[in-house]
Amino acid sequence: MKRLLTFLALFLAALTAGAQQQSPEMVRFLKDFPQRAAFNTHSYEFHPLHDTPAPKGYEAFYISHYGRHGSRSEWGGAAYAHVRDILAKGKQMGILTAKGDSLLRESSFIYDSYNGMDGRLTPRGVREHARLAERMYNRYPAVFKKGSKKIRAVSSTVPRCIVSMNGFTARLSAIQPDLDIDLDTGEKYMEYISKAETETIGRRTREAMAARRGRTASTDTVTVLRNLFTDPVAGKALIPNINYFQYSIYATAKVAEAFDIDDNLFRYLPFDVVYQYHESNFLSAYLNQCNSELNGDLRMPRAKDMADVMIRQADEVIAGKQRAADLCFGHDWPYLGLASYFGLEGIGDRLSVEDAAAHWMASWNCPFAANLQLVFYRSKRSADILVKFLVNERETLIPALQPVQGPYYRWDDVKAFCENRVPKTQIIAHRGWWNVPGASQNSIASLRNAQDGGCAGSEFDLHLTADDVVVVNHDPTVGDFFIQQSASSDILAQRLSNGETVSTLDEYLTQGEKSRDCLLVLELKPHDNQEREDILIDKCIDALKAHGLLRPDRIAFISFSHYICRRLAAEMPGYTVQYLEGDLSPAVLHAEGINGIDYHFSVFDAHPEWVREAHRLGMSVNVWTVDEADDIRRMRDLGVDQITTNDPALTNEILYRRK
Ligand code: MG
Repeated sequence: MKRLLTFLALFLAALTAGAQQQSPEMVRFLKDFPQRAAFNTHSYEFHPLHDTPAPKGYEAFYISHYGRHGSRSEWGGAAYAHVRDILAKGKQMGILTAKGDSLLRESSFIYDSYNGMDGRLTPRGVREHARLAERMYNRYPAVFKKGSKKIRAVSSTVPRCIVSMNGFTARLSAIQPDLDIDLDTGEKYMEYISKAETETIGRRTREAMAARRGRTASTDTVTVLRNLFTDPVAGKALIPNINYFQYSIYATAKVAEAFDIDDNLFRYLPFDVVYQYHESNFLSAYLNQCNSELNGDLRMPRAKDMADVMIRQADEVIAGKQRAADLCFGHDWPYLGLASYFGLEGIGDRLSVEDAAAHWMASWNCPFAANLQLVFYRSKRSADILVKFLVNERETLIPALQPVQGPYYRWDDVKAFCENRVPKTQIIAHRGWWNVPGASQNSIASLRNAQDGGCAGSEFDLHLTADDVVVVNHDPTVGDFFIQQSASSDILAQRLSNGETVSTLDEYLTQGEKSRDCLLVLELKPHDNQEREDILIDKCIDALKAHGLLRPDRIAFISFSHYICRRLAAEMPGYTVQYLEGDLSPAVLHAEGINGIDYHFSVFDAHPEWVREAHRLGMSVNVWTVDEADDIRRMRDLGVDQITTNDPALTNEILYRRK
């Protein structure tokens, strides 16, 4: 009786499950094909294809292909072993159901096949690529038979991608032995093949996911016991942590297809639990890697390098270079970023967290062997080159562009779209992002806001106290004290309007270290004489070194002091040094070795030619302090590299907000 009551209590607890918000569209998507719950470890799903005829007279002549590696094993293997070991004990006790027995066999098989090789391409992964190659060839035979026989393939340095490349190209060679295929891999390619999200994006995604998880958690831990054990209470006693056990079953089920198991292993879990894990997996990938409302403005610039390579390669072929195809083999995150960068319908949709959870067709967008193909067409009767985009071999539209016909776009239109895809102008928060509650100028809170808000950089002002401590403040005075003539003990006791005390540079850099994505723009204030300015420079360099921040990609220097700029330029080659005063032309500064200008916008209104002159000389151009919409637009249109602003939100709205 006690056992029955225990089970009834568990069962009643299970009735409270299912309270999470489930999207009817996503429920249908998963129920139509349960293995889709594996999301990015779902093996490639192929369905018959439709080809819209090309406009009259056009014929395919070149293909640019980005392919994610095929089906692979998972990491660790601990999950499979956990499931296997608990079920093996249940078998010894004679309490497994038929389903429990079946999962024991399957988890054992998966663990043995995994064989301790994390992320290893399985035979199915090789087959996926061979079949992709075969279908590509059969769909566009003219590309390979009529034109150049040359194909160039490059791969991520990760073995599963290299093996995928081999599977793909070996099949092409088998079909047409006279193809001339070059294969390559190396660190150099990783700079664009595997560029992923930044840590700011990752942090924002984790916060959004945590907020959502609080509302969608499933609490059913009973169904799985009933599925696997004839005596659920005895079964539960074998399991140290039921949530980890359910997760382990999910992790095992996720890779079953990769090992050619046709059975749907998700059936052992309650649907709510599968739904929850699935959502958590794909939503995190969408928010991190795609053009989401949350992170798209930050993510798209990082997809640009890969897109630029594909655009350059295509242009070379269009200009006459002999090549039938460029093939690139990599991973899911760059593939997602790339498809989003091209604005492709589905993957590239800009969605809120809620809309993505409800509508983004996860495994349909990003299974193993996911791929993006650009198929190029030309005609003897027109100079226009056309291109068609295939996502997982399906014709896919760019909603922001007008096609010539069906899915066929003018290549020049696609390039113009890409040209404007990423704003060229970066946003620098002036004295941090301080015009929000809880922050004040040059406070640590304002730096944190700039980092978390995705600003490209955050500026702050530095003075040297009389006893040689570098402190962060804009005005030369704070409270009743003139900073450069006062003891640090007096200065550091002063409070900012948000309640923080004035920071030392050292304290400020402790926060600065926390984001690699947000450039630290140090403004070194002019001091009474060169000797004091020298000490300020030396102290700043020491502090940056101590924090591991003395790297050209992490910091930039600005100053109204011509001397400070000259000395930094002479002693710190490779670092950005921008002069602030606005009284010297770029050519004069360039002759002195100074590599940047940061002038008030009125200076550029008077000398718009200085932006172009600076760029011609290879100098960077920053502008301060631009807070009004018209000024922001005007400076953007002048082509400055950075806008320093007290209003990062407005500047972001004007520069970045785009679908
Ligand atoms: Mg300043």
